[in-house]
This record gives sequence, structure tokens and C-alpha cells, in this order.
Amino acid sequence: MDEIQSVLDFLDAGVSPWHAAAEACRRLEAAGFTRLEESQPWELSPGARYYVTRNGSAVLAFRLPEEPIRAMRIALSHSDAPTWRVKNAGVEKAGCILLQTEGYGGMIMSSWLDRPLTVAGRVVVRTAEGIETRLVCADQDLLVIPSLAIHFDRGVNDGRKWDPQVDLQPIYGPMGCRAFADLLASEAGGCAPSDILTWDLCLAPRQKAVRLGPAGEFFMSPRIDDLECAAGTLASFLEAGGDARAALVWGMLDNEEVGSSTRQGAQGTFLADTLGRVFESLGLTRADFCRAQAASFVLSADNGHAVHPNHPEKSDPKNGPTMNNGVVIKENASQKYTTDAVTAALFREICRRAGVPVQRFANRADLPGGSTLGNLQGHSLAAPMLDIGLAQLAMHSAVETAGVEDIGYLIRAVRAFYQTPFACAGDGVYRF
Ligand code: ZN
Repeated sequence: MDEIQSVLDFLDAGVSPWHAAAEACRRLEAAGFTRLEESQPWELSPGARYYVTRNGSAVLAFRLPEEPIRAMRIALSHSDAPTWRVKNAGVEKAGCILLQTEGYGGMIMSSWLDRPLTVAGRVVVRTAEGIETRLVCADQDLLVIPSLAIHFDRGVNDGRKWDPQVDLQPIYGPMGCRAFADLLASEAGGCAPSDILTWDLCLAPRQKAVRLGPAGEFFMSPRIDDLECAAGTLASFLEAGGDARAALVWGMLDNEEVGSSTRQGAQGTFLADTLGRVFESLGLTRADFCRAQAASFVLSADNGHAVHPNHPEKSDPKNGPTMNNGVVIKENASQKYTTDAVTAALFREICRRAGVPVQRFANRADLPGGSTLGNLQGHSLAAPMLDIGLAQLAMHSAVETAGVEDIGYLIRAVRAFYQTPFACAGDGVYRF
């Protein structure tokens, strides 16, 4: 029960990638992890726990073994979700002040209409000493993107095409209302509005995570993709017993929804740089690193599609997972998912020993699927990898739906992934 609430709390807290990262850092600090800065020297001790951030929106945490590192167990997820980024404030139209936004990621546009929204992200503030970054989130029902009345849009139920520049711009307030910069300045700790130099702000639905169904079997929340996996794998990472020979790594990267090609995304060097520094700091060699990499196991955890009860025809009849029936292993012949026979067998065996059910996801042969971060991360870390996730509905809607029981399955499966003492005994051979 507590672990479920803890994941729902993470979903509520992660209103922007920066807030999701801050919440992860808060949990890591509470568990005794030491913060490292990429810009500073690192002196690491065997057996100790550390974390590091990049861009304030990606986090890597690691638990070092007492013995020299022979392998790594790494679980990755992403901090971002499709939303709208705020370009300008103070656009005047028809007696209203609007914010001007631009789409971030592939959202279901209509799901953002007619619901209370706010802004969340970071602002950069001028201080006496220089500049500094501060998190902001206006904790109030602040914005709305109103639908066009059906009387002006008779075809709205016949397949509407949305123009984000026209249809999806949020109303901030009436003419003459409190200036947006003034509101931001008080959210940023009370600086002068003129000291706010720049921002990275996104829109966030005000909807909190709620359970639904006769016994609360499902839950709805914004950002289930992928904060459910981020929070679940973090819980596993914090409570896992640990294999004396393996370094345990947890990562939440940014910008998956826009292709991961940023320095804080899976195509960036954050993970490779961090692991390289860990090995160097512990006096290990490049050969030690290559050896450990080959003996490692990486989980790329990002949610998948449950069979939709109103549209079962969209899913493959034999490979469609359903909510509350276990962790999903994602497979794709074109290798958009990293799963192969060896990594799938290894993970299935770990889950079988832990008593966690698994399901399989593969697309219909006539439908291209989505992509995720694992295969992109594989460009800079060539360790055996597997794509997993949990089955959810309404992916990339402003508010998504998933199964409560699956949260526990994910936490137990990933905890077993971290702590089961298995070792690579050769290419494609593992001993438990
Ligand atoms: Zn995702």
C-alpha cells in the first residue's frame, strides 16, 4: 500500500522534468546518497552511494560494491512527458491575456482542452553573485485551453484536425490582471520580476493521481509514461539487497519524448561519462570497464500499451498485455526495443524466481510501434539490454490510466533484477 502511494506521490510531484528530478534527488538524499557535481573532482569509496544530475532534469545514482566492480545492473527510465512549452507571456486577444506555447512531444492534443492547468519548470534569476536556477510551479488552477463551441465547429465529432498554433493556446487571465512575470517572481522565492532572465516552463494538468474502479484497481494520472517506471524502479533500487560483485545503477534521463538527442538524453554521454569516471576513480582500467560492461544487464523501463477494451483490434491478438497482469517485456523485430532471446530469458528467469508475472508486447505486423530510450542508450553503452514497461491506456493523453497491481509487480521484479546473484559466464551464458 505504501509503495503504491509513494509512486502516486512521485507522479504528483513530477510536474516537469526538473521537478521529477528534484523529487528523485530528495528520495536519494533521504536514503543517504551523497551528491556529486559533474564539474567537480570525484573521490569515490567502495561500498558507498552517490548520485549526480545533468541539466537539473536527468539523474544517475549508483551503489558501489565493496569488491572491484565485475558487472553493473542498470535500470533506466525518462523524466519527461508530452506537454506544451511556454514561449511568451502577455499575448493580448479578445479581452484576455494568453501564454504562447509550442508542443513538446507527441501529445493527444484534444486531451489538453477544458481542464485546469498550471505552469511548472525552472527560471533563471539574476542575483548579487551572478545567476542561479530555481524551480517554479504555481500551485493553483491558473490556465485553461477552452474548446471552440460546437456551434462554431459542427464537424468537431467527425474527426477534427488540431492546429497547435491556433487551437491550443492557453488563457492566462483577463486584461489588466497580475503580470505573469510578477507571479513567476513570487514563485521563484520573491525576486524582482525584472531579475527573471529566462525560463524553461511547461504546462501541467492540475489533475492529481487518483485510484478508480470498485476497489481502486486502476489509477489515472498525468505523466504515467514514464514516471510510473521512474518511481517504481527507484523504489526497487533503494531497497534492493545488492549483489556484492555488481554496481547498482538507477537512471532517469530527459528528452525521450523528443528523440533523446540532448546531453541529458539517452543519446547523450551522461551514463557513459558517469560510469567512466566511477571506474577511473576506483583505479580500474579500460579493460575492467569493457569486461564489466559485457557482464552487465540494463533494463530500459518505459510503459507499453495495454489492449484497449474499445479497440482490441489495434493490438496483436497473441502479444497484447493487459493491466494488472504483470511486467511487460517489449519486443520488436526492427530492434526499436533492445530485447533479444538471451535478455528476455534472463529477465523471465529472474521474475520467475521472484514470483512476478510477465507479459509480452509486440506490435501487429501492420502497425509501426513507438520507440523508447534503450536502443539509443545502447549507442554509448554496449551492455546486454531489455525493454520492459507496464501496460497502460491513453498513452500521451494529458491524463493516462494504468493498473495499481502492476506497480507492485514492477517494484518486485526490478528489486530481484538488482539483487539476484547471477553472473555472465560467457557470451549468452549466465549462472545463478
Ligand atoms: Zn515513455
